[in-house]
Amino acid sequence: MKLVLSALAAACALAATSSAHAYVLKKTPSGGVVHWNATEATLLVDRSVDQAERRARDAIQRAADAWNAQDAQAPRIRVAPADTAHDPGFDKVNAIFYRRAFAPAGTAIAVTVVSYEQAGGTILDADIVLTGRYAYSASDDVERDHYDLVHVVGHEQGHWLGLGDENQLPGVLMFSATKSGKTLLRAPSDDDLAGVSAIYEGRTPTPPASATTGCSAAGTGYNAAGLGSVLFGLGLVLGARRRRGTWLAVSMLGAVTLGGPSGGTSARAATTEDATMAAEAAHADALDAVVVGRTSSWEGGLLRTEVQARPASCAAPCDREVHFQMWGGERDGIAQDVGEESVPEPGLPVRLARGTWGVRLAR
Ligand SMILES: [Zn+2]
Repeated sequence: MKLVLSALAAACALAATSSAHAYVLKKTPSGGVVHWNATEATLLVDRSVDQAERRARDAIQRAADAWNAQDAQAPRIRVAPADTAHDPGFDKVNAIFYRRAFAPAGTAIAVTVVSYEQAGGTILDADIVLTGRYAYSASDDVERDHYDLVHVVGHEQGHWLGLGDENQLPGVLMFSATKSGKTLLRAPSDDDLAGVSAIYEGRTPTPPASATTGCSAAGTGYNAAGLGSVLFGLGLVLGARRRRGTWLAVSMLGAVTLGGPSGGTSARAATTEDATMAAEAAHADALDAVVVGRTSSWEGGLLRTEVQARPASCAAPCDREVHFQMWGGERDGIAQDVGEESVPEPGLPVRLARGTWGVRLAR
């Protein structure tokens, strides 16, 4: 099985180990809790989900019912059919889609895209995308090589409510990996519920300043799933812990792509120095670097960020930079997370897995 690494923020890893509970909350860049400012939020079901599984709509409703049946003060998930077509991304319409190919999901089985107010953490939009990389089953007897759709949707709905992936307890709905060929947990566990309680307990929704709520009072969402035989989205906290820094996973090649500001993708060595670095890189499993800058831009409703980093081994003044791109980011007061991989902040050490970085001279 291929080892999959993930770019978990150090804070997440700490949170998972420093307390009795296992749940992980989704946080804003400044440490606030990402949450819905509503007692109910609507998840529209895009017609495309019918391609995922014949009984996909039933599975989505079942998963929502399981969350709604709990007395955890979390917003109620109202499932309704979408009348018009939308796309995943920030448009203030929360929906669940099926996409045969969805690059931002990388190798994940599903991903939740959460757009929220960067300052306060209020969710503005949250979408779930079931990808076409794997086969789903909504049956009570999940077929071989198929993945339990009720479980997968329930997990993503947990992200939609503001929870992050849990990497310690295989027995909770928010555990980051899933398995094929069997029916898995289809309702939130006590730990999952403790997580949503931590987000919403004592929180009273306030009326939006500017009226209309329409189908989305606030949006939330978020997250991802990878797989290995198994992963939802990631799994790699282990790697991240063992060596300092954040891993940008090999598994996230779909999400982390090479590229310079101009969109170039070459890791080809252009100078002797680059050649040296490229040679070093070729012999290493990873490259330690420090983020020095990032720039996000909209591509439709999705944010894409160009991240600039300096190799940790590079003495100042360092004239070498590593550039890579990730989905998600921050722009116009809106933060967006695509799956579990938050775009690393400047100053944060990152460990780039081989093949994910491009080498270029700093300008
Ligand atoms: Zn997840």
